[in-house]
Amino acid sequence: MEAAGDVVFRLNEHGMILSASAAALELLPESNDVAGHFLAEFVPKPDHPVVSAAILQLMESHQASRIRTRITTQAGACWFELQLLTYSNPQSAPEILVIGRDISTHKATEERVLHMATHDALTDLPNRALASDRIHAAIIESLRTESGFTLIALDLDGFKKVNDALGYAAGDALLCIAARRLREALHNRGTGDTLARTGGNEFIVLLPGLTERDEIQLLARSMMSALQRPFEINDRLIYVNASVGAACYPQHGENAVQLLAHAETALHHAKETGKARCIIYDQEKFNQPPPDVTLEAAMFEAVRNGEFLLHYQPIVDANTRQIVGFEALMRWQHPDLGLVPPVRFIPMAESNGLINLLGAWALKTACVQIQQFSESAGRPLYIAVNVSPRQFKNGQFLQIMDDALSLSELDGSQLLVEITEGILMSDPALAETLLASIRARGVRIAIDDFGTGYSSLAYLKRFPISVLKIDRAFIKDLMTSSKDAAICNAIISLADHLNLSTVAEGVENQQQLDFLAAQGCSLIQGFYTGRPLDPATIIDLLQQ
Ligand SMILES: [Mg+2]
Repeated sequence: MEAAGDVVFRLNEHGMILSASAAALELLPESNDVAGHFLAEFVPKPDHPVVSAAILQLMESHQASRIRTRITTQAGACWFELQLLTYSNPQSAPEILVIGRDISTHKATEERVLHMATHDALTDLPNRALASDRIHAAIIESLRTESGFTLIALDLDGFKKVNDALGYAAGDALLCIAARRLREALHNRGTGDTLARTGGNEFIVLLPGLTERDEIQLLARSMMSALQRPFEINDRLIYVNASVGAACYPQHGENAVQLLAHAETALHHAKETGKARCIIYDQEKFNQPPPDVTLEAAMFEAVRNGEFLLHYQPIVDANTRQIVGFEALMRWQHPDLGLVPPVRFIPMAESNGLINLLGAWALKTACVQIQQFSESAGRPLYIAVNVSPRQFKNGQFLQIMDDALSLSELDGSQLLVEITEGILMSDPALAETLLASIRARGVRIAIDDFGTGYSSLAYLKRFPISVLKIDRAFIKDLMTSSKDAAICNAIISLADHLNLSTVAEGVENQQQLDFLAAQGCSLIQGFYTGRPLDPATIIDLLQQ
C-alpha cells in the first residue's frame, strides 16, 4: 500500500493513529508525528459523529464499511471516502486499517449539481422546488413549536416594459439588483427566512415566526420601498414597483400548495386594486369557487377535437324587419356535457389564453360564413364578431383580421367588430391606434353592452365608433319601467346626434320592438326577431 501511494492509517481500537502512509502524512498539516493523535483530530467537527460511529460499529461487527467525511488537509477540508476494516494479529489487540480516497472533485460536482437543481441560475436564490421544501419544513416545525409563519408572493410591476424597451440583458440585470435589495431588506429579521425566485419577475419569501398583520405590512412596505428606489442600468434610471400578497400558516392553508395559491391570489388582488401594495389573504373576501380544472382540461381537448362551433343570431332592421346581418356567437358542443354555455367557458378561455386561438378561429369562420349567407340571401349581409380584451391586446389582432378578410374575400364594410367599454378604458392609447387601423380597413366598430360598464361619453368622441349596442338589461323591463325607457331614449338620441347606429339587444316581444322603432332605434336583435341558429338552418331561412 505504501508503494501504491495510498492514503492509509493504522488505528488502534479507539481510533488513535498508530502509523500513517507517506501519502497520508503528506496530506496532513502536522505531518511529522501523527502517531498518538486521534484520527478524529483531523476531521472537522460536524463529521465527528460519522467517524466515531463507523469505528464503534466496526469494532462490534468486524464488518468492513465505507464512509464519506472531510479531512483537514494542508489545503483545507477535503472530502474523502474512507474504507474501514479490522485487521487482527493473534499476538496483539485488533487494529483498524483506514484506506482513503480523495473524492473532493466528485463531491464538488455533486454539490454543484444539487445547487443548480435547487437554485435560480440568474440570481442564485433558491428556486420554487427548494422553496416548496422549505415550506414543508416550516409546516413541520410550526406543528412542533405550535407557532406559525407567513408566505409572501411578490411581483415586480412594470417589469415587462423594461424587457420590451431595453432588452432581456437589462431585465436580467434589474432582477439581480432586485434580488439583492430584497435580501438586504430581509437581513434585519435574522436567519431562517427564505427568499426565492419562482418565475420571471416573481419572488416568494418564507418568514418563520411572523404572523402579526401589522408586522407583515411593515415588512412588505420595506421590501416594496427597496424596489421603488431607481435602478441604474446601462446609464439609465429605471423605476419599477412591486405588489405583495401574503398568506399565513395555519389560518390560510394547511399545505404548501394551498399557501402558495392563496398568497398568489392575494397578490393578484393587490395588482387588480392599484398595485404597489400588500394584501393579506382573506378567506371570506377571496373565497371564490376553485377553477374547474376538469372543464379547463376538456376545453383544450375540445379545441383539438373541433367541438367549438358558431351560431348566428339575426340582426333585423327595426322598420322593414328584414335581416341585415348576424352576430356570431360561440358554442361548445361537448360529447358528454352537451352544449356548455358561453358564461362557463369564455371567462376560462380568457384567463388561460385559449381565447386567442378561439377568437381567431371564430373571426375567420364567421367571415367565410357570412359570404355564404349573403349568397343565399342574394344581398350583402354583415357579420358582427365579439373580440375579447385579451385578444384585442395580444398584438396580433390586426394580422388575424386581415387574414380573415383576405381568406374570405369579404369586404371590410361587412365586418363589425364588437368590443366592450373596458377595452377602451384600460389602455386608451393602444385602443386608439388599433381602432384607427381597424377603421382604415372599412371595418366598423360596435360598443357591446353599452351603458353597463364605464360609459364614458368622452370615448364616443375620441374613438372611431359606428354602432352602440344597448344592453339587454335596459330592454327587459322597457314597457314597465319609465327609467329604462328614458335610458333607451337617451342612448338612441345620443347615437343619432353622433351619427351612430343603435342595436337593441334582447328584444323579446312586439311591444318592445314597436317602442324602440318609434324612438328611432335602427336595428333589433333578440329572441323575438330570431334566436341564434346553426348555419344550415340560417341558409334555409334566407333562401325562403
Ligand atoms: Mg356581442
